[in-house]
Amino acid sequence: MLGYPAPGELIADFERNGMGLDSITTVFLTHLHGDHVDWNLREDLPNRPLSFPNARYRVHEADWEHFTTDELLADLYRGEHTRRSVLPLEELGVLELMVGETDLAPGITAFPTPGHTPGHMSLLIASNNERALLVGDILGSPMQATETDFRYTPDWDGPMGIAARRDILDRAEREKAIVIGSHLSYPGWGSIVRWEGRRYWKAL
Ligand SMILES: [Zn+2]
Repeated sequence: MLGYPAPGELIADFERNGMGLDSITTVFLTHLHGDHVDWNLREDLPNRPLSFPNARYRVHEADWEHFTTDELLADLYRGEHTRRSVLPLEELGVLELMVGETDLAPGITAFPTPGHTPGHMSLLIASNNERALLVGDILGSPMQATETDFRYTPDWDGPMGIAARRDILDRAEREKAIVIGSHLSYPGWGSIVRWEGRRYWKAL
């Protein structure tokens, strides 16, 4: 849901699949960059109600602290997304902060992967012997599956972002997990494969 004036696909996906937006009880935010928080509120409706009216919105405490400093909130441009799409969550009483690894539902665990932002989190989804890792912005491009140590420009702490990427790619390979990223080639799902000793992204 990139940029609030443009319609995102998520709301339409729910409608297409006959799922009620009110059936969602948890919304997990990997981090608080603008392109990951807009549409917390319905930008297409008057008065901008919550997109998921019965959900708690979960985010790491370190991101909340990082993105709500007086300095940032006072900044016309850099504070815009927080003011518009994050502060209302707190005002409505639906924001719930996390500190460390947190079970969100049976088989669904959020865990800290700082670097891209101070409180960036990823998600492990486990069911029987299958695993998926939702890695948010740890991978900015499929290329970084191979060139793991290339810095991702928007990272808050470059070396920490690289360390987080190494860890999660090692884990994905070890656990044969599907990887789900935010900015990877559509539909953003893939696996990590080896060819002649090097690691590559394989879209699914
Ligand atoms: Zn980001």
